[in-house]
Amino acid sequence: MTNVMAANDDGYKPGGLHDDLACPICLDVRHDCKIFQCNNGHLICEPCHASVNECPVCRARLSRPGSRCLFAEKSIQALVTSCKYAKDGCGYASANRDQAEEHTASCIYGPVECPLLPCRELVTRASLLGHILKTHEAINLQVDEDGTAKSEVDWAFLEQGVTASIPFHLPWRGRLFLAVVSRHHTEYCSWVFGLWEPRGKEAKAVIAVECDNLTLRATTQTVRLEKKIAEIVADDSVLCMSSRQAKIAARDGAKIIFKLSIPEESDSRMHQGQAEDEGAASTY
Ligand SMILES: [Zn+2]
Ligand SMILES: [Zn+2]
Ligand SMILES: [Zn+2]
Ligand SMILES: [Zn+2]
Repeated sequence: MTNVMAANDDGYKPGGLHDDLACPICLDVRHDCKIFQCNNGHLICEPCHASVNECPVCRARLSRPGSRCLFAEKSIQALVTSCKYAKDGCGYASANRDQAEEHTASCIYGPVECPLLPCRELVTRASLLGHILKTHEAINLQVDEDGTAKSEVDWAFLEQGVTASIPFHLPWRGRLFLAVVSRHHTEYCSWVFGLWEPRGKEAKAVIAVECDNLTLRATTQTVRLEKKIAEIVADDSVLCMSSRQAKIAARDGAKIIFKLSIPEESDSRMHQGQAEDEGAASTY
């Protein structure tokens, strides 16, 4: 096993041993089941082995109950990385180091800063929502039949010019989003955090601010919690209101409606090249 460990320590590379151990059917390197082999030594994971009668590589007929490959099983165990937060209760493990790293970055047992200003308390991802609801009196957004969530908001803080955030809590089809309105220099910016979204799987979020005098709308991407405000604003994942617009909006104590929607399967639509502004204006 020494050579396996050495290869591992040199840095995980896609391909090589990892690919040799992958099941040719599901393409996974399964560390949580038996690994079978055909008469010619081709590997197949247990669930896939149960679903076929011949080897997918060489067409050799598979015997029943089948012939295990203990060497492959042991080699795979040597590649397994547990989640960094296993001691905190996370049971995740993977033989694919990239996947394990990706998991760790969004593991619910991992630490994360409360994204609200000026709080910034360090909590676990799993307890963040509880922290926000308890400490920051998040506004629960009511979801309409057309899938838009909205709330009438007192943006008195716009005039006070304090650095603060208003959180909006939106449970959405089993996912959780947190919208914030925050002051950044002379602008008032709003964006949407995906609380538990995996890296690279950001959703499209449509944010709108409406009042008698002004309507602002932007199609943005949800933002990962780790991102700093300066980065978020620079990346354009925000709806920005200048202080002049904010004054117009808040004039005479006008009611300001904050709206949010997360279009379904938004990623694929974006990739089909639909103009963002058009999508925001006509569809939602
Ligand atoms: Zn398989
Ligand atoms: Zn075979
Ligand atoms: Zn984990
Ligand atoms: Zn907080």
